[in-house]
Amino acid sequence: MTTIVWFRQDLRLADNPALAHAASLGPIVPVYILDETSPSDGRRLGGASRWWLHHSLAALNENLGGLVLLRGDPRALLLELARKTSATGVAWNRCYEPHAIARDRQLKADIASAGLDVQSFNGSLLHEPWEVATGSGGPYKVFTPFWNACRRQPVARPVAVPAFELADVGGVGDDLAAWRLLPKRPNWAADWGRYWSPGEAGAAMRLDQFIKHSLAGYADLRNRPDMPNVSRLSPHVHWGEISPRLIWSRIAHAADRHERLRGDAGKFLSELGWREFAHHLLYHFPTLPTHNWKPAFDSYPWRASKSDLKAWQKGLTGYPLVDAGMRELWATGTMHNRVRMVAASFLVKHLRIDWRQGEAWFWDTLVDADLANNASGWQWVAGSGADAAPYFRIFNPMEQGRRFDPDGDYVRRWCPELARLPTPMIHAPFEAPPLILHEAGIVLGRTYPAPIVDHKSARLAALAGYAAVKNARDEPRSS
Ligand code: FAD
Repeated sequence: MTTIVWFRQDLRLADNPALAHAASLGPIVPVYILDETSPSDGRRLGGASRWWLHHSLAALNENLGGLVLLRGDPRALLLELARKTSATGVAWNRCYEPHAIARDRQLKADIASAGLDVQSFNGSLLHEPWEVATGSGGPYKVFTPFWNACRRQPVARPVAVPAFELADVGGVGDDLAAWRLLPKRPNWAADWGRYWSPGEAGAAMRLDQFIKHSLAGYADLRNRPDMPNVSRLSPHVHWGEISPRLIWSRIAHAADRHERLRGDAGKFLSELGWREFAHHLLYHFPTLPTHNWKPAFDSYPWRASKSDLKAWQKGLTGYPLVDAGMRELWATGTMHNRVRMVAASFLVKHLRIDWRQGEAWFWDTLVDADLANNASGWQWVAGSGADAAPYFRIFNPMEQGRRFDPDGDYVRRWCPELARLPTPMIHAPFEAPPLILHEAGIVLGRTYPAPIVDHKSARLAALAGYAAVKNARDEPRSS
């Protein structure tokens, strides 16, 4: 029995239940379909995601030795591929974006009515979003009880890489280069190979390195953008080059062997828990990427300012921690989580620009761009989301810098024009005396921007805007 394995956000061989199932039945036809005909919730893959996808597919093809690449609508292509290859079944691992759920439901019906076997599996989450429910059977809206409920359920053991045989597909499929996923002019990703190794081997290496060198201290140091104590696994996890079950079992094993790692391991697993929570929310509240989860925020008086949005995107706000983060994002396709929170808060609160504009920029520029995590991250920062930061919590970018980048190393790396400022002034160059600025070679407004807004008055304006929200209804949008 030949079975098509439809790869989507599970670009790996290890712990891949759909692959294991298909391989147990007979020869397989592995396929990836670039679906630009039914774009996800009105959006295409961002530029950074396309870069990652190119390299990840190349790596998967190396491992499989014969990945079929097709472009178009999977509803037509899968049945056609089944006819061409005489496949009798199709298998995939589930995706949880609203458009994917609707598409897959339709596909299941189409494939079954064509007389083929069709099976889907959980390859992306520790627990299915519908398996974790409150006492009354509804979705969780607060993280801690959600995570406590998750931890009461066992995590399935990862499945091994199966032995598999490739079916003869007679040369069908596209050439990866013809998809033109990589940027050309300008090639903004020219040196991304220095930062990333997309693919299953790169993911495994990243996890090994993290456990060996950076897990110890994670709980304390994960907030420090100047330290190497985060895993940087998120793009690998998003594309399914490594499964959360495998990460879970490796981290739990490390904690079992070394008692001193227990606290750090627990904290790290709870961050994977935030990913689970974001997917739980997206599944139960499918408008999460487009609408305020708390409709009260529909009353917020957002500002429209193209020039402020541009200054934020380019890392030219005059606030060093924000600028360093936005430049790190552009240069590498990622930004440290603490700085994501500060930079996002700056856009939403200091500039009062709608969180959806920031979400769209992150979607285009992050290598880990993920509908669930991105939308829930932005709504958390804006205060409009589930279990979000309270609206009156307005990050002070200078204080955040002094606390989490105490020596200024992170700012010096991404804003080299500030490198010669003494550390006590690195997070607020506009407060430095003229002589110190002169000695550091800085002319505010010329070599580095003067702040585009004043922190104190921006804070007051943000709070005034939220007065409108406070008076509005504060129930989540119905699921
Ligand atoms: P680690 O600290 O090593 O965490 C391990 C893993 O846990 C991560 O790889 C990730 O899969 C998961 N994780 C960690 N923190 C979170 C979180 N807060 N929410 C959900 N999952 C988490 N993450 C994305 O994967 N894609 C996004 O598009 C995304 N957009 C974000 C937007 C904003 C405004 C904010 C504040 C956060 C966003 N995050 C997003 C969450 C978080 O910033 C990243 O997951 C994290 O920085 C990735 O780095 P890491 O792999 O080193 O994380």
